[in-house]
Amino acid sequence: MSQFILVLDEGTTSTRAMLFDQQGKLHHVAQQEITQHYPRGGWVEHDAAEIWDKTLHCARQVIEAAGGADRIECIGITNQRETVVAWDRQSGEPLCRAIVWQDRRTADFCEELRQAGHEPDIQARTGLLLDPYFSGTKMRWMLDNVPEVKAASDKGTLAFGTIESWLIFKLTGGKAHISDASNASRTQLMALDSDGFDAALCDMLGVPHAALGAIVDNSGALAETDPDLFGMAIPITGLAGDQQSATIGQACLKPGETKATYGTGAFVLTNKGQAIPRSNNRLLGTVLMQLGGQRTYAIEGSVFVAGSLVQWLRDSLGIVEVASETEALARSIEDAGGVTIVPALTGLGAPHWQADARGVISGLSFASGKAELARAALEAMAHQTHDLAEAFAADGAAWDSLKIDGGMSANDWMAQDIADMLGLTVERPGFVETTALGTAMLAAVGAQIHNSLEDAAQAMRGELARFEPAMDQSVREERLARWRKALAAA
Ligand code: ADP
Repeated sequence: MSQFILVLDEGTTSTRAMLFDQQGKLHHVAQQEITQHYPRGGWVEHDAAEIWDKTLHCARQVIEAAGGADRIECIGITNQRETVVAWDRQSGEPLCRAIVWQDRRTADFCEELRQAGHEPDIQARTGLLLDPYFSGTKMRWMLDNVPEVKAASDKGTLAFGTIESWLIFKLTGGKAHISDASNASRTQLMALDSDGFDAALCDMLGVPHAALGAIVDNSGALAETDPDLFGMAIPITGLAGDQQSATIGQACLKPGETKATYGTGAFVLTNKGQAIPRSNNRLLGTVLMQLGGQRTYAIEGSVFVAGSLVQWLRDSLGIVEVASETEALARSIEDAGGVTIVPALTGLGAPHWQADARGVISGLSFASGKAELARAALEAMAHQTHDLAEAFAADGAAWDSLKIDGGMSANDWMAQDIADMLGLTVERPGFVETTALGTAMLAAVGAQIHNSLEDAAQAMRGELARFEPAMDQSVREERLARWRKALAAA
């Protein structure tokens, strides 16, 4: 009897295979680390063959734990977004290392395009800003700098894809070259309002349209695994980029519903429904999902430093031994004693976008100690989230509540502080692997285990913890005044 949903969670640092049942309960996990290659400052690469080998290994391990391939009803894939793989359709092998989303090597090309006046057009059509983060300029770099990629392009055998696209090519034994709409919307080669990759955008970035696959839904009968891999064909019925998947896993299924993931950095997405998002506040417009050809959009804002600030307190200042100690320290005092931290340690992301800003600790006195610093660090999360909330509201995507996840969301004090500073209910699921859960939901709907994402959310999501706002307006205003003053010095 088939009964499990296999999710392949392809992160930046590891690949995992996870076995969910139809009620969203996690039964088995197999995980392997991915080697990070840093050939030069600002360059980050992965070996796509290693990603495939480790994915296959982890998948086989959990399929065996499930009792065989006939116990797997369907497969879903969620992945690090924007990372580009170039492979040869004939040999099925990668042509060079994958260029990872963090890689900055195309900064000059992005600047050239900006100088040439292309940013407003690109933003209007793709929802994205000109930044090396996105896939298109990375593809162009490969064509210009890797002779094998250029030669394959000349021969007509070049394939470009993001990680889910590469894995589907391998899982189907080279039969399918597809990308789901949520991943495709991060390449800068797809217009938010058109079906396939866009010829004019491809021309602008110098990427051959023929090297790109077809854009498909996030859920449905999308592909089938080669029977030789697992002993029988298994349908692939769910695909989504990691942040979109977490948004679905948090059941942000209606316009206005918003999730914030607090990990190393913080990623916030608000469901915008069927309206194509336009930002005047340097937020990103992106595809949340495409079902039956119908797109649902999201507005996205990324904050570069969240949990990494706590890591810095731990590793560089040594004021805590483990991250969770910040909670007791924050609770041990009435307030931060006027201490404010602006965590611009690698510049400021949305909505400020100041690459050259640097961190600030203000308001120090002889009374300031570990507790004040720890509390100020946690308060900074609510302050940054507040700035995003204002920008989202100004872009017509005001939040009605906030659903949080990520490693740092385990901190109850921070969760309450975010509710207080936003004046909104904050919800946190008991099961925080929302990225994998979102794809399990998409795969379950695609395999007709559940009729809709709403049904899947009902069946597969567990208990929630709720944090209700309880702060005096005067305290909130004092905090924000302190934050704005410190921010001006960053
Ligand atoms: P990522 O997926 O980006 O690697 P995680 O979601 O695993 O990150 O979150 C880990 C981050 O959260 C670390 O930077 C850590 O400092 C921070 N963190 C984890 N637990 C807590 C806690 N209880 N309080 C504050 N910060 C925490």
